[in-house]
Amino acid sequence: MKLSSLGEFGLIRKIRKLSSRTSPLTVIGIGDDAAALRISPASLLLATTDMLVEGIHFNLSTTDLYSLGWKSVAVNLSDIAAMGGVPRFCLTSLSIPSSVPAEQILDFYRGFNALAKTHHAALVGGDTCASGNGLIISVTILGETNRKWLITRSGAKPGDRIFVTGTLGDSAAGMELLQAGSRSQKSEVRSQKVAASFISREEKRLIQKHLRPEPRVEWGKKIAQARCASAMIDISDGLSSDLGHICEQSKAGAIVHSGKVPLSAALLKAKERLKHAPLQYALSGGEDYELLFTVPPSGMKRFAALNIPAMEIGTITRGRKLLIIDEDGEKKPLKPTGYDHFAR
Ligand code: ADP
Ligand code: MG
Repeated sequence: MKLSSLGEFGLIRKIRKLSSRTSPLTVIGIGDDAAALRISPASLLLATTDMLVEGIHFNLSTTDLYSLGWKSVAVNLSDIAAMGGVPRFCLTSLSIPSSVPAEQILDFYRGFNALAKTHHAALVGGDTCASGNGLIISVTILGETNRKWLITRSGAKPGDRIFVTGTLGDSAAGMELLQAGSRSQKSEVRSQKVAASFISREEKRLIQKHLRPEPRVEWGKKIAQARCASAMIDISDGLSSDLGHICEQSKAGAIVHSGKVPLSAALLKAKERLKHAPLQYALSGGEDYELLFTVPPSGMKRFAALNIPAMEIGTITRGRKLLIIDEDGEKKPLKPTGYDHFAR
């Protein structure tokens, strides 16, 4: 079977089935944002790993190595945040082509440590080797939580309200601007001056969100410790796909109001320069690293007391359908159009 017809998530489902014999200490194995492993009666070790591959996740013509170091920690911290955990340790493995100067690798670690230190996650190991084919980064983060605070993707129930932190779509729009900027800089048509004036304040903000995302670790921890949410995930693939993951694992459906999906002023202002409508970036773009979570009626008071900047975008429903109500009040299927490594 071709990978393109299975898709990234179809492949992970098959890997999960093949590897279903786990330890009795595995509370959550393959299929959530991080594994949750019992290390004492109350404590859970959280473990997550993510790769960033040159030519797939990044391009060295549109990112500096400091930002890349920052982002490779951010994407993993975001998975710990989605479990409501506290990050503790990091491990990093690099496969480095000979064309990358040593000083740039040290810059990678400056960016890496800047964000890791903010979240008190210590770098304790890794691996280094040569690469014949681009820069490859793998980061693992270990964190912890208490059994009673654990939030998975699978606890959403019909009637629960759906919330998302921050704004969505900025990162994907920022990536498009970066790529357009790098193309225009290369082309002879635009002078260097035009290329330099390409970026407005709003566009810088979108690019910043793409290059240096801020993982929502504090918010994730607060939501978990208040025990007000029934399910949580971080938005790495795009709202439509990540809400799809919550619904699939919770065996439920969802209805989202398009007018309530939070879009930043920067994204709305930059829309003239973008290929798609702002909502499209929010639904399909990915790499937002915001938190998407569901709150049952019984948790609403405790959640409101946390004062976390989050927008209510819809409701969990019975049945397995994902729907979106558009600006004209019309209900349409919400297809999971987020990032899939193989389905293209
Ligand atoms: P996220 O976007 O939150 O990082 P992924 O979609 O990458 O999550 O992964 C979903 C789940 O599948 C996670 O539990 C992850 O550990 C697991 N997973 C992904 N790829 C593999 C693999 N090759 N082998 C085993 N588990 C995997
Ligand atoms: Mg995740």
